[in-house]
Amino acid sequence: MKVCRTKKEMQSVVQNAQANNQSIGFVATMGALHSGHLALVERSASDNDITVVSVYVNPTQFNNPEDLEKYPRTLERDIDYLQSAGCDVVFTPTDDDMYPEGKKSKSYPFGSLATKMEGEFRPGHFDGVGTVVQKLFEIIEPNNAYFGEKDYQQVLVVRKMAELEGLDVNVVGCPIEREANGLAKSSRNERLTDEQMEKGSIIYKSLLMARDLKEKGKTVEEIEKAVKETFNQQEMFDLEYFNIANTKTMELLNGTIDVPARAFIAVFAGNVRLIDNISLN
Ligand code: AMP
Repeated sequence: MKVCRTKKEMQSVVQNAQANNQSIGFVATMGALHSGHLALVERSASDNDITVVSVYVNPTQFNNPEDLEKYPRTLERDIDYLQSAGCDVVFTPTDDDMYPEGKKSKSYPFGSLATKMEGEFRPGHFDGVGTVVQKLFEIIEPNNAYFGEKDYQQVLVVRKMAELEGLDVNVVGCPIEREANGLAKSSRNERLTDEQMEKGSIIYKSLLMARDLKEKGKTVEEIEKAVKETFNQQEMFDLEYFNIANTKTMELLNGTIDVPARAFIAVFAGNVRLIDNISLN
């Protein structure tokens, strides 16, 4: 496995792969890798001739400076981990390499995809994601890029960015990997206490409850009320939002659910922010 620490090194690997007609699969990460990331790497390795994984904590997608500062950084462990998961090239650029013009985001017309949920509660987040992923796509020129549905809104935003920018890449959404108790795997879980990890199953359980209520014909308002009550009955987790949205447009739904829909949730465990979602169909 090759480790490219600069954009130049990375570009020369890409040129070489293209000269040899090799397909390139790409997984963008911010490191602190876990089996959720590795599932994306394995999928890429099975679909493509070579797999590139970027490990870069992107400053422009953090609206909260404390979250950026506390984000776990475990590069040496990540490199060992990637070596055993079928990754061929790790790209670990510096801020100067990614943002020579200063750490600023572009502004994208994402429309309804980015106005609610993560777009509403993390202002500027999706412009930051779009900016860094555009830069990475332009450097790595992947044929296929793999993103986890844990960040479902992000999958749609990245696909839209590629379309808006005319980048010829197939953006593949991959299923959410979970802990045995249902808690979605996340780099931020490293900051949870044992008790928070254990009781964090409430997040997935509330999503399963939402799916169950939808199957019983309950309205959006009834489902939202039931989920809010579940969180009101305990003190360890604070509900930031629970919404049901149109799977394709991310517009919030109300009343009877008669289009493809997903439920989305964000909670705080202390100052650690966790998100999850589930298909209601
Ligand atoms: P991150 O390092 O958190 O930016 O995540 C990098 C990629 O891994 C993103 O496409 C995430 O959606 C994906 N990912 C993170 N956690 C999971 C998970 N539990 N299951 C599936 N994909 C995930």
